Amino acid sequence: MKIKKILDSAETGSDVLVKGWVRTKRESKNAVFIALNDGSTLTNLQIVASPESFSEKIIQQVTTGASLKVEGQLTESPGSGQVKEVAARKIEILGPADPEKYPLQPKRHSLEFLREIAHLRPRTNTFGAIFRVRHAMAFAIHKFFHEKGFLYLNSPIITGSDAEGAGEIFRVTTLDLNNVPKREDGEIDLSMEFFEKETNLTVSGQLEGELAALAVSEIYTFGPTFRAENSNTTRHLAEFWMIEPEMAFYDNQDNMDLAEEMLKYIVGYALEHCPEDLKFLNDREQQEEKSKPQNERNELTLLDRLQFVIDHDFERITYTEAIDILRNSKPNKKKKFQFLIDKWGADLQSEHERYLVEKYFKKPVIIYDYPKEIKAFYMRQNDDNKTVAAMDVLFPGIGEIVGGSQREERLDKLTGRMEEMNIPKDDLWWYLETRKYGTVEHSGYGLGFERMIQFVTGMGNIRDVIPFPRTPGNCEF
Ligand code: ATP
Ligand code: MN
Repeated sequence: MKIKKILDSAETGSDVLVKGWVRTKRESKNAVFIALNDGSTLTNLQIVASPESFSEKIIQQVTTGASLKVEGQLTESPGSGQVKEVAARKIEILGPADPEKYPLQPKRHSLEFLREIAHLRPRTNTFGAIFRVRHAMAFAIHKFFHEKGFLYLNSPIITGSDAEGAGEIFRVTTLDLNNVPKREDGEIDLSMEFFEKETNLTVSGQLEGELAALAVSEIYTFGPTFRAENSNTTRHLAEFWMIEPEMAFYDNQDNMDLAEEMLKYIVGYALEHCPEDLKFLNDREQQEEKSKPQNERNELTLLDRLQFVIDHDFERITYTEAIDILRNSKPNKKKKFQFLIDKWGADLQSEHERYLVEKYFKKPVIIYDYPKEIKAFYMRQNDDNKTVAAMDVLFPGIGEIVGGSQREERLDKLTGRMEEMNIPKDDLWWYLETRKYGTVEHSGYGLGFERMIQFVTGMGNIRDVIPFPRTPGNCEF
């Protein structure tokens, strides 16, 4: 039986069989107390073994990290700290763990150290909690879209085009890099490639998502995304998961409404279904805050921040309004921003986004209608000829969590912009065909799954919300 089930619903007096890993062992004169965990819940199951009933060899092998199979009777616990415990009748050591060598001792380890032992860190309370919350949020996302009638679309992972022209792409090749076949002019002979062309890992499923939305109206993707951006920040991974809904007949207002509704839904789902793990993460953050300087501490606790997001409408402002606020802000005037805002057209950095969210509005903010120069070619051009119908959702502690837009559905406008931006039209012939045949108004956005989990768990570093992070110089495990 899973420990969660035992603790939630098994009757005292019943016989149980549990398997799990030892967290701690405590020996007193008359009893050995074992805290067993199987990952189904944060709470350990207390196993009580009387020393007479078990050989010394068995008791010695019960050490932190060892795996056990335990049979016994579930009883009411006389001790404080737990309601039920198991009086062990049989203990089998499934896999011992040499206590001299086991890296995860029962004490507080730094997150940096735990990243070095990412193969074992799921066995800690913190990572158990994070991964259970991650699971619940993935489920909540599917549930949200399913209930709205969206189709889950699997967009390709290997692509023949660099969708956004962002350039931060991982090449996919089967060529022998020590002996690359060359043509007579010295260029790589792409006809020798597996796909007979240059291919990459996807940076976004959006373009394919649009193709499907222009047939079945509403879709979402939820898959791995790869960006070879050499930015060693606490919010960027080289491999992350993205949710990309794409909706026919939605304008940018509808797009923002959907994003806000979805974000509130996922946060609400986590609060409802992961109370124990979130309480643990909340308390963990409270502990950490104590060692931070006053001005870097969160004004609200994690649980209060989550409830706050659900209870308040997100602020919606245009890029132009955002620039006015930032230009006149204290950190700008006192030259505290690393990138000072002086004129319209400047790209917003994370420091600006966080000022708007954390200091100025003190709530999530959606910025829309950005200058076309700083946004992608496919975003719908506004009548002012200067801006596009983009929208970014900014969250406290994170900055940009969602980036999206209404898409340009007018063929001439779209190709015009592609030409201005030197986007090769031939490569995207299939994308352009949707604008020739039955084109409609449509919109979509991308939510970075790990950034969302950062927000919900309060974890400061994105490397700690994905089981096995990939970042520049790091692809272990
Ligand atoms: P940023 O400006 O923060 O680098 P972006 O503008 O490149 O993000 P988009 O292309 O709009 O991001 O991608 C949509 C969403 O995907 C972002 O809002 C963010 O939540 C997430 N995201 C983007 N890049 C990464 C990354 N390298 N690691 C994790 N999440 C990411
Ligand atoms: Mn963006």
